[in-house]
Amino acid sequence: MSKADASLVDYRPPITVVVGHVDVGKTLLLDKIRGTFVAYREPGMITQHIGLSFIPWGAVEKIADPLLAKFKLKGRVWIRGFLMVDTPGHAAFSNLRRRGGSVADLAVLVIDITRGFEEQTYESLTLIRSRNIPFVVAANKLDRIYGWEPNENAPFLESYDKQREDVQGRVEEAIARIIEEFNKLGMDADRYDRVRDFNAQVPIVPTSAVTGEGLADLLVVLAGLSQRFNREKLRVTYGPGKGVVMEIREEKGWGVTGDVVLYDGVIRKGDVVVTAGLEGPVSTRVKMLVLPKPLNEMRDPEDRYMFMDEVRAAVGVKIIADGLDQVVPGAPIFVVPQGASLDEYMKLVKEEVSEVRIETDKEGVVAKADTLGTLEAMVIYLRSQGIPVRKADVGNVSRRDVVEASIVKKKNPLYGVILAFNVKVPHDIEIEAMQYGVRIFRNEILYRLVEEFTQWYKEQKTKLIEMELDKYIRPGKIRILPGYVFRRSNPVIVGVAVLEGVIKPGYTLMRGDGKKVGTIMQIQDKGKNIQEARKGMEVAISIEGNVMIGRQIKEGDELYIDVPEEHAITLMTQFKDQLTEDEMALLKEILRIKRSSK
Ligand code: GDP
Repeated sequence: MSKADASLVDYRPPITVVVGHVDVGKTLLLDKIRGTFVAYREPGMITQHIGLSFIPWGAVEKIADPLLAKFKLKGRVWIRGFLMVDTPGHAAFSNLRRRGGSVADLAVLVIDITRGFEEQTYESLTLIRSRNIPFVVAANKLDRIYGWEPNENAPFLESYDKQREDVQGRVEEAIARIIEEFNKLGMDADRYDRVRDFNAQVPIVPTSAVTGEGLADLLVVLAGLSQRFNREKLRVTYGPGKGVVMEIREEKGWGVTGDVVLYDGVIRKGDVVVTAGLEGPVSTRVKMLVLPKPLNEMRDPEDRYMFMDEVRAAVGVKIIADGLDQVVPGAPIFVVPQGASLDEYMKLVKEEVSEVRIETDKEGVVAKADTLGTLEAMVIYLRSQGIPVRKADVGNVSRRDVVEASIVKKKNPLYGVILAFNVKVPHDIEIEAMQYGVRIFRNEILYRLVEEFTQWYKEQKTKLIEMELDKYIRPGKIRILPGYVFRRSNPVIVGVAVLEGVIKPGYTLMRGDGKKVGTIMQIQDKGKNIQEARKGMEVAISIEGNVMIGRQIKEGDELYIDVPEEHAITLMTQFKDQLTEDEMALLKEILRIKRSSK
């Protein structure tokens, strides 16, 4: 086809991404799938992409035949294969973004069957769900189940039937544990062949990236999911290309290039494209479009690439053009059709990017991430946790970030912080942040990063409230312990039990009839001066004032802290969450005493 024709439509293979905790076997699983299925060639399909691998459905059918019959999918699968994203993990998935959604159509969440849910499992799940795409669980390392007898590349169900009963039992237990974790999260899951409703239950496929068992099942379930959910989503036109920049990299002889996943339309050599950089939209002209050569056409390692005049969605393609060094991964990229307004496309890109890069004067945190995709995932996550964001941007932590955070800190010390996700903090910036007292939180795992911050937030908040509370005289009630009068006057020194609330040096004591007794000078516990004594403690106190034991007060008397009325009212209204019910009751009693003694 020489000319783009927007009226033609086609369906692209679903773009499929693999996510999960570190070391669960994501990389090996992808390698095994590629090794097992990519060798089959399909006429008319590009088999080699940049950053993606095409898994032809025909190849899957060869080993999945019994499964297809069992699940009544034989001859009914209309997708022509899958485009597996070569780089597994959170970052790649995050960058496969488009306005309001995902460029990835399907996800495989890999869990180590012998370990079950791990930290990043939750994070991957959050990410998948925030993008709202269908997914399947690969319960990997099946071959590690004690006693498992491998059957190379066999479907799981076939191999499972050949196992001893006790081995089957262990597999079931492991699956049950995974199901239980999903249940705890309010989701339903089951071994894939027992799933009754794919809209409501997460299918779990046991796999081994080492023996290849379960890979057929995995791809059949993915096909099943695309049959159900994806047909319209997979529609591609042959209009102007739309894609996302997955990666920006320097290539010898070519300069800075962009690896792009084109999810719709056509892109041609010479096309004007618009994408996004940190300084704003970038427009440039495509100089070259590069694809890897099919393996069997590669004569020597130097001869790895082929240069295309045009490519059609869906495709992973390397673009060579000027100005790409400015571009951020995760940025949209659009072909500007001839005759269309460049300004309009610039505006479009700008709008899309400004949805992710936030700049406000709100009291909130400063969020930094390495790519537009990870930043978006971060902002979505922060919002879901109710954490306000003042600024969200791509790139290393900068002086401006520190200044922004310090401005917030003046108004609200708890939000005057920087959360750095997968980005660097240059040494001088770190020192500057210390000078401003701005805290920088860093972690490579998003939910850990946010957890560290929220933990700190809670601690600081408690401290701040304590500091605030300290400005007010708090209620307390004591009894003078009989037999513990150490000095009768000037000052009185007695042993007391704190019956309720708290007492501190400087607090004034009064009797049950409202008459003032004197001021607490010192509190001692086992001979040591202390700054407060709480309910349940027995301590010695000295009381200064015109007071004598046997006159104004005597052993066994109960005394109250004389809480000024304004303090009592503030405590009862603004700090009611910090007071116990007993302290509230005591405050009321103190107020009543004071009012009736006036
Ligand atoms: P990733 O961090 O999730 O990409 O994990 P890798 O693919 O790098 O695998 C981590 C380790 O687990 C490697 O040593 C793999 O060889 C091993 N591994 C991965 N999948 C399997 C599997 O299915 N069975 C067994 N026995 N080992 C596996």
